[in-house]
Amino acid sequence: MIEKTLVLIKPDGVQRGLIGEIILRFEKCGLKIIGIKMVYASRELAGKHYTDDEAWLKSVGEKSIKSYENQGKKLTVDPLTQGKQVREWLLDYITASPIVALILEGHNAVRNVRKIVGPTSPADAAPGTIRGDFTFDTPMLGDMQKRPVQNLIHASGSVEEAQTEIKIWFKPEEIHAWKRIDEDLLYREGN
Ligand code: UDP
Ligand code: MG
Repeated sequence: MIEKTLVLIKPDGVQRGLIGEIILRFEKCGLKIIGIKMVYASRELAGKHYTDDEAWLKSVGEKSIKSYENQGKKLTVDPLTQGKQVREWLLDYITASPIVALILEGHNAVRNVRKIVGPTSPADAAPGTIRGDFTFDTPMLGDMQKRPVQNLIHASGSVEEAQTEIKIWFKPEEIHAWKRIDEDLLYREGN
């Protein structure tokens, strides 16, 4: 059950001085940092991360529609059109200033990191999550300002996504095997 997952501290997290605060939360939970660097991503690299896969684009559009509904509003464009627009904004946003890329390892790391990060729309994220504690942005506010939701972090959504994304951002020699002093206590067999 030991998994690796990719986290990006997006430009809003870096520019707001939240790098340390964000990393602290993962470290304190017991996750192990096995790769870390600051990257000024090219549009090509960003495009590999936020691909034009139709199913993902539709899911992004569907999230917008749901979030509008939660606010008692209706988004009139179809999910795919919305997803394509959000992707264009994402590529501008993620390449606008340096970001911090991390690989975290631990027991059920993908799910546990998503739990610490909170849901996509910060307005729906509970206090105690990173997105819930540090911002209150919504897809609707993003649309009005022609930008994606600024939710501070990217975290892989599944083990498969993590495997693909780690290869996009890290070379094998940038990933390090080491042992945390509390590791046996946190994930010893039988736990
Ligand atoms: N996004 C957006 N509007 C939406 C849904 C997503 O601007 O309605 C942006 C947001 O920055 C999000 C990114 O697109 O983090 C990727 O979307 P995804 O559904 O993968 O969310 P995540 O996995 O980041 O929670
Ligand atoms: Mg995602």
